[in-house]
Amino acid sequence: MRRPAHIRFFLLLFLASFACLRAAAAPQSASTYGPLPVFELHSGFWINLHHTLYHEARQLTAAATASEKGGKSSAPVMKTSPDAKPTLTSAEQKIWDEAVAYYAANFASKDPLFTTELIQLKNQLGDFEDCDELSGRNRRFCDAGLQPKLAQVLEAAAPVYRAHLWPDHDRANRRWIQRVSPLVIEQGVGISERLADIYDTHWPRQKIRVDLSAYANSSGAYTTVDPLRVTIASLDPRNQGPEALEVLFHEASHGIAEPVQEAIIRECRQRDKAIPRDLWHALIFYTTGEVIRPILASSDVAPASHSGSVPGGGYTPYAVREGLYARGWKDYLDVLQRFWQPYLDGRATFSDAIARMVSSL
Ligand SMILES: [Zn+2]
Repeated sequence: MRRPAHIRFFLLLFLASFACLRAAAAPQSASTYGPLPVFELHSGFWINLHHTLYHEARQLTAAATASEKGGKSSAPVMKTSPDAKPTLTSAEQKIWDEAVAYYAANFASKDPLFTTELIQLKNQLGDFEDCDELSGRNRRFCDAGLQPKLAQVLEAAAPVYRAHLWPDHDRANRRWIQRVSPLVIEQGVGISERLADIYDTHWPRQKIRVDLSAYANSSGAYTTVDPLRVTIASLDPRNQGPEALEVLFHEASHGIAEPVQEAIIRECRQRDKAIPRDLWHALIFYTTGEVIRPILASSDVAPASHSGSVPGGGYTPYAVREGLYARGWKDYLDVLQRFWQPYLDGRATFSDAIARMVSSL
């Protein structure tokens, strides 16, 4: 029941956007692009409402903590983009505030990436994105099986969100999809095969579901497994421009790079060493960056003036641009360059590269 609306969404998207976008570059028909390979990109109402409430609840609790400590406090009132001027009636404001308060009391202290309750809720809301209710009151198949109080909070907040923020959020999501899609269509299969090859595994046969949401978690994107699903914040400045492609494949790598983590653990066990914290994560940042770098450097889709691009058409990978190596991963970058890069270049084996990295740390 999800798919037909989804296909309609893509048809509209391709016809409306890619036709114009690509017609300027090359006289090709829109159908050349077909559906996206590798990923299935969504802009769903409930998942966006959920992350927006979570985002505002986090702001509310942070403001409360700051005021307890004597710092500046500012109670959040539904505001997102600088040009958005929501004018809520007092009744709407009351409903919205109650929903944010519910999220503050129940979810704000929990991590969407590590809390089973939040992972399941996010997945359920994604599954029911085409429903205009969650309790099954009007349509039985729209019973999402949520706790009655939570379903009530979300259903009450829905019309307020739909009237004031959702149009902007949905537009931002679709704009993000529209910008990244030409690169995914051109390069997606090749990148997925290369990454699976590097990680000594297979790319999932099914397309990976990616939910675009105005907000996600503090990292701006996160991935949960079983089922493998990616959530990306479309308003996050770190995810914009051609870098979107790297974010997409970095997140997907969370779902497929298990053999690397297993190999690191095996090597550590053999050497009776502590497992280097986040080495696996640094490795997938490094690898995605290095696989994407030549593609974006030579791509005519990447605007040269963007922050991720450097003069001369180069591309700065996410972990470098966001200073991740500089903030505690300097040793990791060193071993990745010395021992993992030769593997990427075909001059070392997977197990040798991992063994050398682990023994050097
Ligand atoms: Zn990551």
